[in-house]
Amino acid sequence: MPAQEPVFIAPATDGVRRLLSDRGFVALGATLAAWVMTFAVVAALRALAPQTPVLALFMLLVVVVAMLEGAGPGVLATALSLAAILVLGAPDGSAAPAALIMFLAAGILSSVGGEWVVRRRLRDERASQTLLEREALLRSIFDSAPDAMIVIDEKGIVQSYSAAAQRMFGWSAVEILGRNVSTLMPAPFRQEHDGYLHRYLSTSERRIIGIGRIVAGERKDGSTFPMELNVGEVRSPHGRFFTGFVRDLTERQETEARLQELQSELVHISRLSAMGEMASALAHELNQPLSAISNYLSGARRLLEQTPNADSRSTEAIGKAAEQAIRAGDIIRRLRDFIARGESERSVESLTRLVQEACTLALVGAKEYGVRVQYRLDPRVERVIVDRVQIQQVLLNLVRNALDAMRGQPGRRELVVSTEQAADSMARVSVADTGPGLDPDAAARLFQPFVTTKAQGMGVGLSISKTIVEAHGGQIWHERNPEGGAIFRFTMRLANGVGEAENGKDER
Ligand code: ADP
Repeated sequence: MPAQEPVFIAPATDGVRRLLSDRGFVALGATLAAWVMTFAVVAALRALAPQTPVLALFMLLVVVVAMLEGAGPGVLATALSLAAILVLGAPDGSAAPAALIMFLAAGILSSVGGEWVVRRRLRDERASQTLLEREALLRSIFDSAPDAMIVIDEKGIVQSYSAAAQRMFGWSAVEILGRNVSTLMPAPFRQEHDGYLHRYLSTSERRIIGIGRIVAGERKDGSTFPMELNVGEVRSPHGRFFTGFVRDLTERQETEARLQELQSELVHISRLSAMGEMASALAHELNQPLSAISNYLSGARRLLEQTPNADSRSTEAIGKAAEQAIRAGDIIRRLRDFIARGESERSVESLTRLVQEACTLALVGAKEYGVRVQYRLDPRVERVIVDRVQIQQVLLNLVRNALDAMRGQPGRRELVVSTEQAADSMARVSVADTGPGLDPDAAARLFQPFVTTKAQGMGVGLSISKTIVEAHGGQIWHERNPEGGAIFRFTMRLANGVGEAENGKDER
């Protein structure tokens, strides 16, 4: 790693450190080799031509070594060259002491100059290395960021286009680089984008830069999608650039829509349930007076029948009135049965999937409440026969209640959703929270309709949950959480036969 190599800033120590590094030993070895070669060449030339400029040739060696390897090898080359000159001798008189001193001075000067050159070169190399590394890092961020990133210039021409953008828009980088970014927008923005850019450049009036907006994007196949766009501006010597960060909102909007759908279904069921409760109460209350009416009417008819000369039309009318009273009772009973039965589509479902799906929906936004969520789902408790939407509504309701209970509460906020095997081939689902626990006044009546302690609450969630769970042959109840807070549990039938058959098939 470059950071572990010597840094060439402090003057004296750096040269020494470099010399003592592996690279320094290689440099000294290379210097020695170059000197040996020079020595051999000069000796050979001397043998051929006595006037060979020995000092000049060795000076050349010193300068080359110093420029390539710096002060240490330069000084070594100077010392070795002086020794060589003394050994070889110089017939032209250049080995005189004055010349040797000049050689030494020139050698040292070259070494100092060479050291400066080497340090500059190494610094430049290091800078370009760091630049390359930073660019690689930036590129990897650019390519791995989940949000799409697109850089455009002042004219709206795409300069950079990340991997996420390729996935999001369907255009490859090759197709889009150099084209106008408006290609990624549907009409009318496509035609107007250049105008927006121009207006910003001339007025500096910000409408999107640094603000962020939800806008529409267009994919290569022509389909459009909602996206959140944040734009940043960069001013560089090469001009102004705009960086767009794009998040695809399709999924989020789908989740929100699904959540709303489930909630409206829940409200629908709650109305039905409230009607059911009313019908049941009415049936109960009206049953007695209706029975009394029909009894009195039967009595009156018998009395009339025993009265001589009684008008047979009166007897008939009283008989019809009694029939109608009985019919009224039947109508109310039938209405009650019809509502209690409701519409229910049961099938074999995966409990784990059902729980996870409902919790995901219920937990939208839970992060903002600072709640830690844990799942403890027993894989052996898997296949259940239920109306998926209804059971998910029970779960959604319990999880939302747990979140409501923990919202704004200091201290631990933990939600544990678990599944386990209960007695009699039943599966049990539990939702435990660490909220304040149940209100003692309301605790006994929680499952009755319209019992709520919330300002905005309808108080029907738990009563509907009870209706649903009981219609599935299960039970729902609450317990005190030993860790503080409340636990709501409910049971439903396991699809044992079906589940085992399918599991067996999988294993084979
Ligand atoms: P709502 O949520 O509209 O009030 P519910 O029937 O779902 O209607 O809940 C009824 C009441 O039960 C709530 O108002 C609340 O007081 C209480 N409750 C439900 N779940 C919890 C819980 N996890 N912790 C504390 N209280 C709860």
